[in-house]
Amino acid sequence: MKDLSIYIHIPFCKEKCFYCDFLSFKGKEEYFKKYKIALLKEIEEFAILNKDKYIIKTIFIGGGTPSILPIGYIGEIMEKIFTLFHMAKNLECTIEANPGALSYEKIKHFKDNNINRISLGLQAYQNHLLKKIGRIHTIEEFLKNYENVRKVGFENVNIDLMFSLPTQTERDFEQTLKNISELEPEHISTYSLILEEGTKFYSMYEKGEFELFNDEIDRKLYYMAINILQKKGYNLYEISNFCKPNKECKHNIVYWTRKEYIGFGLGASSLIDEKRIINTTNFNDYINFKNKQEIEVLEKRHMYSEFIFLGLRMTNGIKKSDFYKEFNVSIDEIYKSQLDKFIKNGLIIQEDDNIRLSKKGIDLSNVVFSEFI
Ligand code: SF4
Repeated sequence: MKDLSIYIHIPFCKEKCFYCDFLSFKGKEEYFKKYKIALLKEIEEFAILNKDKYIIKTIFIGGGTPSILPIGYIGEIMEKIFTLFHMAKNLECTIEANPGALSYEKIKHFKDNNINRISLGLQAYQNHLLKKIGRIHTIEEFLKNYENVRKVGFENVNIDLMFSLPTQTERDFEQTLKNISELEPEHISTYSLILEEGTKFYSMYEKGEFELFNDEIDRKLYYMAINILQKKGYNLYEISNFCKPNKECKHNIVYWTRKEYIGFGLGASSLIDEKRIINTTNFNDYINFKNKQEIEVLEKRHMYSEFIFLGLRMTNGIKKSDFYKEFNVSIDEIYKSQLDKFIKNGLIIQEDDNIRLSKKGIDLSNVVFSEFI
């Protein structure tokens, strides 16, 4: 049997956060049930066609806001997966939860249904900032839920944070990092604000209602995160992700190392049999069982570049021998000029079989990645 990971997309939110361009909708509560039925059908059809072919290593229920669904739904989805697939012994199963759409009962329901990792979207520790970015919860609600997550017995918790938010000060971000690391979650993700077209922030920015931080301040905040979190025993294992020893997110490592995964749900993407498959993004089509997929057979060049730019996101980088094992061709043969250039100007460090980004390379990672695409 082959290893496989599963991603489940839940495209519902109570409100749209001002920075978010993810595929999610507010105000579709009346469609929750229809969506779940379509999702279960999609899972079942794949499982029937691929009976006994895969062993599931990780599951990630993301969104959107999976925790918005009524109690029972996640259990049904998990039961379907557990009935139809073979599960790895050390299965990692994550659910994303919004502190404004969560309760003790829901957390308990997740735990009772084989979910063993929970990812809480907090973003900032200050209520005025949470409001400013359109989050639906307060810090007090987050703390209560965090307490419940521990009470119920979750031993693997991620907290998402953001920096370079409008009006956020260095002091705010420092306080966020210190207070959150005091709670000792096993994993912390921290991303800087990126202005995405179609978001509320985008139109506010166009109207001149706020200014983006400059790169220098953004980098300063990023290194502040590294300093504070490393002192607290967190290891930066990917450009934006920190964890306590052996608590890396296995599911995300599947993405960064180009292992196979299947995505179920609206707009979910899969990497399977050297194909990239993307589900329909049309909500009505999806709930009416018309999941027209885009299927792209990946060319070798495409796979090489993905291997490099995804792999270099991890601070341990990639192994030249792994590239060879995967593609039966040497990385130097394909990317000699790029590698020579980046090694020479200090953006990439090469040590024996290993290639990784330097500190300068992390700051200019977009420049590096774009040369491999
Ligand atoms: S809760 Fe998450 S998915 Fe929903 S709008 Fe906010 S950031 Fe986007």
